[in-house]
Amino acid sequence: MTQLKIIQTATRELETPAFFPVHNGGKSAEGNTPRYWENIPEMNTMMINAYSILSSPLYEKMRNGGLHKKFSENGVFFVDSGGFQQKSRNITLDPIKILRVQEMVGADIAATLDLPTFTEDCIYNQNHADFVKKSVKNALIALENREREDMLIYASLQGNDPTMMVNTIDYLMKKGNFDGFAIGGCVPKRSRYHEIIDIIHAVRRRIGDRPLHVFGLGGPAMIPLMVYMGADTFDSSAFITAGSKRLYFMPEKGTIEFSDIPETLYLPCVCPICSKHTYNEVRSERKLIAMHNLWMITHELRKLKVALEENEVERYLEKRLRHNPAVYDAFRYAKAKKRGLV
Ligand SMILES: [Zn+2]
Repeated sequence: MTQLKIIQTATRELETPAFFPVHNGGKSAEGNTPRYWENIPEMNTMMINAYSILSSPLYEKMRNGGLHKKFSENGVFFVDSGGFQQKSRNITLDPIKILRVQEMVGADIAATLDLPTFTEDCIYNQNHADFVKKSVKNALIALENREREDMLIYASLQGNDPTMMVNTIDYLMKKGNFDGFAIGGCVPKRSRYHEIIDIIHAVRRRIGDRPLHVFGLGGPAMIPLMVYMGADTFDSSAFITAGSKRLYFMPEKGTIEFSDIPETLYLPCVCPICSKHTYNEVRSERKLIAMHNLWMITHELRKLKVALEENEVERYLEKRLRHNPAVYDAFRYAKAKKRGLV
């Protein structure tokens, strides 16, 4: 069952559901991510990538737990492996080297080095099987070689089929005691709600109450659905990429183009950004849109936590998702799935 949960990390307790904004490395590796944690107390979390740290000038500065010194002492840092870069740039990374980077920079949670299966990788294809096998092998290598016992290790799960993912979990749980699991490869499937629901549902049922992370998904409509299916944490860069495309997360709704907001005296939001700035200021500054978008995610999480606490999640989603036919249809499917009807 979906519930509020506490994950004990090396830095502090993390209450879930929780969102990890993706730190956008950028060319200089300093990135253009606003220092959101200084303004949004509930968003003191970050997703950052071990491979991009390793391959940038940041690496030297990040030794000895440098993430906390550079960004936020009390922040909870999830350090992803770089599996995606490994595949997209056709390079081979060493799982132990990635693990050492994760340990050294001060990761609270580390995901094991995976080889993402893309949607075009058919599950009957040899490539698909090889990627899954390699990801499993790397996950076990990371667990066996961990030096920092206080760093949580989540096994990265790959595969385009729920049954295959469940088999992978059975194997991993037999061989090692992972602190949690992280589902990868969801970004290309982001509008195929039924597939995402099937996968999260299957994984959640298999792993009991261990923490479950979903990589790369965290839009304002997807978050409630994922939480409903049992995901605890998720990450996304959508808030910031949406900012550069001038996409604005509408309160209580989905994402719209900024130019579609009627230009009146008031923006349709009372977050600290939209309260202090005019329509034109927000429209012309991508960081302001990104910050507004993060406030919307914070608000969404708060409402979900209240609904979870009151055991009213279904009623909340019923109201929350009604405006969007595709997502509402997905919610109805999710509901049937949880009741074992489909
Ligand atoms: Zn706002």
